Amino acid sequence: MKDYESLIIGGGPAGITAALYLLRAGINIGWVEKLAPGGQVLMTEDIENYPGFPEGIKGYELIDKLTAHLDPFDFDKIRDEVVGIEAHPSTHKVKLSEREVTAKTVIICTGAKWKHLGIPGEDRLMGRGVSYCALCDGNFFRNQDVACIGGGDTALEESLYLSKLVRKIYLIHRRDAFRGAKVYQDKVLNNPKIEVLYDTIATEFKGDTDLEGISLKNVKTQDESFLNVNGAFVFIGLNPAGGFYPKEMETDSLGFIKTDPEMMTNVPGIFAAGDIRSKHCRQVSTAVGDGATAAYSAQFYLEQNS
Ligand SMILES: Cc1cc2nc3c(=O)[nH]c(=O)nc-3n(C[C@H](O)[C@H](O)[C@H](O)COP(=O)(O)OP(=O)(O)OC[C@H]3O[C@@H](n4cnc5c(N)ncnc54)[C@H](O)[C@@H]3O)c2cc1C
Repeated sequence: MKDYESLIIGGGPAGITAALYLLRAGINIGWVEKLAPGGQVLMTEDIENYPGFPEGIKGYELIDKLTAHLDPFDFDKIRDEVVGIEAHPSTHKVKLSEREVTAKTVIICTGAKWKHLGIPGEDRLMGRGVSYCALCDGNFFRNQDVACIGGGDTALEESLYLSKLVRKIYLIHRRDAFRGAKVYQDKVLNNPKIEVLYDTIATEFKGDTDLEGISLKNVKTQDESFLNVNGAFVFIGLNPAGGFYPKEMETDSLGFIKTDPEMMTNVPGIFAAGDIRSKHCRQVSTAVGDGATAAYSAQFYLEQNS
């Protein structure tokens, strides 16, 4: 059975950075990615807020640059899915789809997935007006009218953030009251830029190449209408790409992994980095920072425990 000093799971920005730091430190690593390296960045048309690229950069170009940094190193790149981890005091067993490997340290960088509405036009217009991240894309809609969809804390918080950038926000909520914290509800209801459309669902995103508007339906009256906006932010939740953690792993109520500031989980020798962590700011820059910190901590752990 193949044994590594460190096994990195996930080939997004967090995993790539963790790999780079460990390889530069001369650590024997394995790197598991179930698809091609890149993670969510490959779904991103333009990234405007990653430092060092003042003109912005295409998602796939950024990944090319990040992975090129690994080219000089010889290490095991494993195209497979991790389906389970068994934690042991000195060496952890990691189950892939058809075999097992072992590693003294494991860095989990498997990311997260924004929930989709699953309505017509959503996938086609993602990155062309349909977004899931205000921090990422809010700037594209300065002084324009947008819609936000959702009714929990994230929808309220992100609408407040967007209200500083855009001209007007239609906050579309399928119920007649919000679920989010009262403090955010008050702020939203008192914000002159935000108009709430209660009891309303989006039924289709419309537009040839870019979003031109949203078909709506009132769930109480069944009335149908059309909202002219060129930006729509879907805030109906985020799921961790987990499900394979060791049974002792501590997570938050949504299943994101809890870590300390050094990216250490409650399981000795297992670290987590990037969007899979329980945290607020999920961005490429924070994933990269987490990846570097997790690698440093894993290296320190190996030194202390060899
Ligand atoms: C549409 C969109 C636009 C965005 N725009 C921006 C932006 O403009 N600026 C910005 O900073 N951020 C943006 N983000 C967020 C940013 O992409 C993420 O914060 C970042 O990619 C997180 O990196 P990560 O390495 O933690 O995880 P991910 O990028 O999610 O990578 C995780 C990787 O792990 C792999 N994986 C998952 N489970 C397993 C498993 N069991 N076994 C093996 N491999 C597995 C996945 O295939 C994936 O490649 C955007 C996200 C989306 C979806």
